[in-house]
Amino acid sequence: MKIWFNGQLHTRDTIERGLLEQGLHYGTGVFEGIRAYATPRGPAIFRLAEHMDRMERGAQKLNMTIDREGMENAMQTLLFENELDNAYIRPIAYYGGGPLHLDTHDLQTRQAVATLPWKSHLGEDKADLGVRMMISSMRKNSCRAIPALKLCGGYVNAIIAKLEATRAGFDEALFLDDDGRVVEATAENLFMVKDGQVTSIEHPDALPGITRDTIRELSGGDRRSVKIAELLDADEIFLTGTSAEVAPITQLNERRYKIGPITRDLAATYRDIVGGRDSGFDRWLTYAEPGRLAAK
Ligand code: PMP
Repeated sequence: MKIWFNGQLHTRDTIERGLLEQGLHYGTGVFEGIRAYATPRGPAIFRLAEHMDRMERGAQKLNMTIDREGMENAMQTLLFENELDNAYIRPIAYYGGGPLHLDTHDLQTRQAVATLPWKSHLGEDKADLGVRMMISSMRKNSCRAIPALKLCGGYVNAIIAKLEATRAGFDEALFLDDDGRVVEATAENLFMVKDGQVTSIEHPDALPGITRDTIRELSGGDRRSVKIAELLDADEIFLTGTSAEVAPITQLNERRYKIGPITRDLAATYRDIVGGRDSGFDRWLTYAEPGRLAAK
């Protein structure tokens, strides 16, 4: 498998990095999780600009400059080099190459893009069978402690919460805040449906999800803060994320939910759009072109 690293294509084993990189020790990095889908016009990357905007916002928090154009070209080239059309694309930028103190001014920014064969983080069958979710005993990082962006170190919080949930036999963990307001799952935002009304759940500590934004636009529903009692009283609830897509929740602690018609409809519409079968949303697709790196 080929990987783009600091401006060039490498095979995976030639770019193992050293142990004394600041990004490894303190999580000073930023990444994105992006999907490419097979479409009738070849592989297309979904909402690339929005993902890279969010990555740049994260990089700014770390006072890091990323080679956005290089990364975007690399993604397209790698899809062809690695012969993938359905793929998960992972750009990452992190600090290394300097002392292990907490200053960043004398460090180098390492940048990489990997394209990986597609596999859902929640497991392939979750869209059909539904996700079983547990209310976490943990709190999500406050956005006043770590900005709600895709900063590497922040994910330790999600990983520990997910470990707790999977050990208890669930698939996912749900974060609430101290006032019982719903924040998000470990790598997905949440929606609920009540009496046919779709609500996108907002919280300042939740990642501003690009799939959430997509489903908001498609459903035209409202967006607001929701307490756990309201979620337990909803008719349908579902997760959204680049990896999870639109995934119905069938269980939240002891409460069981049916996979409802609105969730099914939105999931199907989303699949059509990302798969390039709905020309009304072509503006969200970047059709990959080979040789973009060489052309530069
Ligand atoms: N919340 C968190 C913490 C995430 O990591 C993700 C995945 N990026 C999401 C929500 C969903 O965001 P998106 O729809 O942009 O993938």
